[in-house]
Amino acid sequence: MSAGYFPKREKLGLEDLFKGLVTASHILHYHGVLDAYGHISVRSPDNHSTFYLSCNISPALLSSPDDLTEYNIEDATPVEKDAKPGYLERYLHSEIYKRFPTVNSVVHSHCSDVLPYCVSGVPLRATGHMAGFLGTTVPVWDISSHYPSGSKHDLLVRDITVAASLSATFKPATSAGFLYSKMRSALPSQIGGSSEPSHEPDHFVVLMQGHGFTTVAHGIEEAVYQAIYTKEAAKTQTAALTIHNAYFGGTFEGKVDVEGGGKIKQGKVKSEGELKYLSDREAADTWETNRRTAMRPWGLWCREVEVCPLYRNECPGGDDE
Ligand SMILES: [Zn+2]
Repeated sequence: MSAGYFPKREKLGLEDLFKGLVTASHILHYHGVLDAYGHISVRSPDNHSTFYLSCNISPALLSSPDDLTEYNIEDATPVEKDAKPGYLERYLHSEIYKRFPTVNSVVHSHCSDVLPYCVSGVPLRATGHMAGFLGTTVPVWDISSHYPSGSKHDLLVRDITVAASLSATFKPATSAGFLYSKMRSALPSQIGGSSEPSHEPDHFVVLMQGHGFTTVAHGIEEAVYQAIYTKEAAKTQTAALTIHNAYFGGTFEGKVDVEGGGKIKQGKVKSEGELKYLSDREAADTWETNRRTAMRPWGLWCREVEVCPLYRNECPGGDDE
């Protein structure tokens, strides 16, 4: 991790963290990743088993530490008994932090630019170098087979069991990354083995059927970067698919009028050209480069929300003042 609240700021204070979390919520709203719904959380730097998430308030209207609630990762209960009402979907955050100790920030979004890739079967891919963190596959998690009996089928991640299923999708048990980390943990350390399997997720983004997406990161700035560029990648891919299909046409199959004889025959016209997405190597290398520069857009985005009168950040202190 090269940039972010973890672990760059070795003596990160809570004031810093709260100010950054409120700013991050404003940035995500400003860029259309969050509207009146959706949320960003951050793990506590003082206590690895808790995290901070806003109370049940629109992200744009967060303004002070009083709007933030500390939750236990174990069961998503508030640390303080008299906490303000929170989000139903806080379990989504807690189960990701529980499964991945290296994840320190989570964004959950219902962004309408991404939603088509959650329902159409068209895979979201990295169309440009700013979206290398998407890799070459972005899983789509479908809640429909995970509803507990008797529960509402409203697509919300409202309990630990459902949330655990979502968090597992970031590192599927059959994935190459999962098997590799298992294999490494089984080898003697002299030949590259490690005593612990890797706790890094295989994917930074998981799409949620009919719902939106969730992205995980090592710090607030990276989480914001990934959320914004997931939206941008979806917009770019949609535009590319649109002009591609308009120019090359889709596959046409059926009876066609064959020129000359006026006969009607079966025919098929294939579209031409293929969209070119980032290769596995390109995705990995571009993200390795770009994650080192995440503080550059962060500085711009902070200023954008700072000068916009809609947003108020009354958190004291912090490096961003
Ligand atoms: Zn949601």
